This record gives sequence, structure tokens and C-alpha cells, in this order.
Amino acid sequence: MEILYTNTRDAQEKVTASQAILNGLAGHGGLYVPMTIPKLDVPVEKLAEMTYQEVAYEVMSRFLTDFTPEELKHCIDSAYDSKFDTKEIAPLVKADGAYYLELFHGATIAFKDMALSILPHLLITAAKKNHVKNEIVILTATSGDTGKAALAGFADVKGTKIIVFYPKNGVSPIQEKQMVTQKGENTSVVGIKGNFDQAQTGVKQMFSDAALAREMDEAGYQFSSANSINIGRLVPQIVYYVYAYAQMYKKGEIGEGEKINVVVPTGNFGNILAAFYAKNMGIPIEKLICASNENKVLYDFFRTGVYDKNREFVLTSSPSMDILISSNLERLIYRIAGENAQANASLMKELSEEGKYTITPGMKEQLKDFYGNYTSEEETAQVIRSVYESCGYVLDTHTAVAAGVYKKYCKETQDTTKTVIASTASPYKFTRSVMNAIDEKYDAMTDFQLINELSKISGVKIPQAIEDIRTAPVLHNRVCEVEAMPDVVKEILKIEK
Ligand SMILES: *Cc1c(COP(=O)(O)O)cnc(C)c1O
Repeated sequence: MEILYTNTRDAQEKVTASQAILNGLAGHGGLYVPMTIPKLDVPVEKLAEMTYQEVAYEVMSRFLTDFTPEELKHCIDSAYDSKFDTKEIAPLVKADGAYYLELFHGATIAFKDMALSILPHLLITAAKKNHVKNEIVILTATSGDTGKAALAGFADVKGTKIIVFYPKNGVSPIQEKQMVTQKGENTSVVGIKGNFDQAQTGVKQMFSDAALAREMDEAGYQFSSANSINIGRLVPQIVYYVYAYAQMYKKGEIGEGEKINVVVPTGNFGNILAAFYAKNMGIPIEKLICASNENKVLYDFFRTGVYDKNREFVLTSSPSMDILISSNLERLIYRIAGENAQANASLMKELSEEGKYTITPGMKEQLKDFYGNYTSEEETAQVIRSVYESCGYVLDTHTAVAAGVYKKYCKETQDTTKTVIASTASPYKFTRSVMNAIDEKYDAMTDFQLINELSKISGVKIPQAIEDIRTAPVLHNRVCEVEAMPDVVKEILKIEK
């Protein structure tokens, strides 16, 4: 069955999977969504015997129906190889009453690698399929992890350039060091004097700037996006929920058809939306538990049905979740609006004009599978300490936000359903916050001393990604005002102003 993709803001637009990947963003600022969610008609006993790559093929081939089996297998094998430090790709670790799905074994030690190691291959394949002549310029806004993962994925990929914008004072020191030391002729990294939402809005504006697109085309370029709005990132993320379910079954933790809950530390709503799609494919997922940090706009939304970004932006110890506009929520809104592009577009118009919108009671009714809560900064630190003290397992700050919300959920509901927590980053990526949470004595140490200490107390080997940046020289030092982002892009591409 062929799956086409439509625009959340324009019912007229219908494209193939490869076109959706290539375009990134749909027209009028909308997002591409599959017109139907295919069922995964493979029994769990069979999935349980498959490798990660094989599960990836089963899931992705159902969504990316204009890719040939050979093309898709090539993309999968090029992505999920020795760049990951474990054959399992996404191991499931039982600790402290939950199952942690470790999504941080790729090149940049955060879950963004799960999708961004395959996106360049999907994109290059899509470009070939659609006879694209222009060079593709990947434009990305990052709250810290996407940037590095995209840079690593696209570095030196022929026929592409990548430009990453990040909030100059809004990412962790290690995240920044990882980005500004990125090698590759085709890579550029720019700090902006603003926060992530401003970076993301700036990028979205460039995507929908027709005059800029013309100038780009004349110079032989076209934009695409590596942000989680690209369907080519969403689809690979569905895979690990299917894989996790199959592994739970394989290990005898659940019986056939037994339901599980999933907890996801959420920012842009991409990861949890992938879990929702996995559920819609037929994976027995009961509750989708959406965990926020103190930027708890989603918690408020699930409770009240009002999405309101008019609030103070809080810088937390889980910076990849410091987001007030969760772009991928639009895909869920579209869905609960009865796949009505017009209704969705008018809500999104309210969001951009007034910074808020309210869904109807009928729409809210359809959010029953979701549970939202948040973890404060203090609670996050407590969770890291208590999980470490109870079993020696060290969580990163983002995963700790999820674990904190899971604790609240259990207390509130007494639900005993087996639960998978998406573990989205290695503690090595947020060493200072993690170590300070465990013991204040670490406060006086340097970042690199802390890394050694973390290795000692956790017994986990220092990842290659961290070893790499200890000595790497800074190669990018551009900083700009938010308003200057388009000019900076032209400068980098050497387009006449
Ligand atoms: C990006 C990121 C998140 C948030 O994921 P979304 O898909 O944006 O909701 C959570 N944790 C880490 C470590 C991340 O890098």
C-alpha cells in the first residue's frame, strides 16, 4: 500500500515520502503527515528475533513506500553500523523499577543520533529519486543535541552543506564544544544572541521566504531541514519503540499482547509523537507519558487544553527540553482535529499571532492516551541522586526528568503496567549537572576531572565522543543577532546581498 504525505495546513498538498523528506517543511509553514498510519503486520515473536536493522526495515518500509527495498536497506545499514558503540543499537536496561531504553549509543551520545545518522542517507536517496540538481543546504536550529548529531551525520556528505544555529548562552559547555569543533568543509555553526525558540522561528522563516528561495536556486542551492519536523526524522524514531517492545517480550518481561507504558522526556514533541505512531501501528502501548522540565507548557496543555507559550522561558539543566513551541505537537493537533487542515491552520495562526490557542472539548477527549507532568530542577537532581544510590545507574538530566514524572505518575495512578523510559542522553553529555546532583563536593572540579569521576562512580567507559572533544580545536566562532540569520546564510553560501 502506498503511503502519501499531506500538509497539516493545506489538504490540497499530497506528496510521496521522498518528496516530503526532501522538502522538510510543507507549504504555508505546515508539516507533512502520513495520510494513514500503516499497521505493522509482523507478529511479536518474529520481531523479537530480529536485529535492530531488521526491525528498522520492517517499520520504515511501511512508511517510506517509494523507496525500493535495496535503497532502504542501504540507508539502514549505512546508518546503524559501528558508529554505535553497541550491536544492540538501542539497549534496554532494567533499573529502579523501570526499563531504560538507552538511545544514546551513537556518535554524539544523545538520542538525536537515532534519526540523524540515517537522515542524510534518506535525503541523498530522495534527491536522486526526484532528480534534484541543486546542492542541498541543511538549515537547522538546535537546543544543543540536534546540532551536533546533524553535523556529524552530514559532515562531508557530497551534495550537501549544513548550517546550524544554536542559542549562544543556552546549551551546555560540552554541547557547545562538540559543535564548534566539528570538522568537515561543508559544515557551519553559528551562535545566535537569543534562545532556541528564536533560532527555530528564524529558521522556519527562512524556509518560507520565497525571495530567499529564488536567490538560493539561482546560486544552485535549495534548503532542507534536519529538524524533527522532517518526516525523515520521525519515521526512524518509531523503530526503537517497536524494538523495545519486542525486546521486552524476548526477555520474558511481558507476555504476548501485554501492554506497556512509555515515558518520554519531551521538548519539540518529536520523540513522543514517534511513540504515538508506534501505538497506531499496533504496538500495545497503553499510556504515552509526556515529561517536561520547568518549561511545562505541554503539562499545562494536557491538563487544560490550552496551549500557551506566553510565559517566562526557563534555562534548566535539561537544555534540550527548554522549548516553549513544541513544533511536532502540530501533527497531533491536526490528528485530533479530525485531520482537518483548515481547523489546524487556524489554531496555528492563533499560536503565531497570540502565542496561544485552545482546543475544543471534543479534541481534548482524544488525548486520553497521554499523561503529562513535569519535574522541577530540584526534583531532577533528587532523582539522579536517588537512582544512583539505589542501584548505581547514572541518569542524565533529561532522562531524570522522565524518571521524575514516572514516579509522580505511579503515585497518582497506582498503575503497575511495565514501563519503558526513553533515555535520551548519556550522563557524560551533562556531566556537571549530573555530578553536582550526586554530590556537592564535585562542584569545585573542572569539566574534564568530572568526566573521570563519572567514569569511576558509574563504571561506564568514557564514550569516544567525549574523548574526541578533549583535544579538538575550535573551528567555528561565528555569533550573530537573530535578525541577521538570513544574511549569515548568504554569507556562508557566498550569495551576493
Ligand atoms: C532533543 C532531546 C529531547 C527532546 O526530544 P523531542 O523529540 O524534541 O521532544 C530530550 N532529551 C534529549 C537529550 C534531547 O536531545
